[in-house]
Amino acid sequence: MSQQPTRGTWTKCPHCGGHVNQLEWGEYCQCPHCHQYLRLTAQQRLKITVDTNSFVPLEFQRKTNSQLQVPGYAEKLTENQQRTKLKEAVLAGQATINGVSLMIGVMDSHFMMGTLNTEVGRVIRVLYTTAKQRKLPLIMFIASGGARMQEGIFSLLQMNTILMAKREFDATKQVSISVLTDPTMGGVSASFAFKNDLVIAEKNAQIGFAGQRVIKATSADKLPANFQTAEDLLQHGLVDDVVAREHLRGYLATLLKLHQRG
Ligand SMILES: [Zn+2]
Repeated sequence: MSQQPTRGTWTKCPHCGGHVNQLEWGEYCQCPHCHQYLRLTAQQRLKITVDTNSFVPLEFQRKTNSQLQVPGYAEKLTENQQRTKLKEAVLAGQATINGVSLMIGVMDSHFMMGTLNTEVGRVIRVLYTTAKQRKLPLIMFIASGGARMQEGIFSLLQMNTILMAKREFDATKQVSISVLTDPTMGGVSASFAFKNDLVIAEKNAQIGFAGQRVIKATSADKLPANFQTAEDLLQHGLVDDVVAREHLRGYLATLLKLHQRG
């Protein structure tokens, strides 16, 4: 059998620049040279997290808030939908992990940087409301650059309304878990990302509010090498744990088992 890879199956690792064959990335999309991860799509994330074929998406009639009439926004949305096969920057539904039922939301940074807009806000609210109705625990995978500027103040409003839905969910006493993945930034990090009962970060994820470039440009201070990393946040008590991607599924399964009610 030929050991020669087919054309186009080699990619360059964005972290170390090493050439990696498609087969070498594996299901966790981890570079065999520097062991850093690639950002996952929502579909890839679900595949390595929930039990096979257990995911049932929440169905939505998609609504676009175009009240600000930003030129080119509609076209951008269409392009992102076609490329990612997603309706918006979040996928939400019910699934099982090691047989335990839960509601799960997965944000996707490949869709307009996973930004929070009116529709993403609505989907996440419905996720909390449905978890409340079905008396199920909830896991939210965060991957977001912050609020979506094309929807301006309407995007910022979602930070509050999601927290209201989360508060109502809390009455069920079911556990809610955030998994902060790369990147978790801006208004999303300042809102629901850190508000769930347990806040886990994926190894090597960048997590912060304003980006490093902005901070560098506005402060004279030199930033430490591990600035805004998951590991630094753990050291400062801002997250409960940092877990490697390949151990996340097992970790979440244990948390769900420990918090099972009824
Ligand atoms: Zn690498």
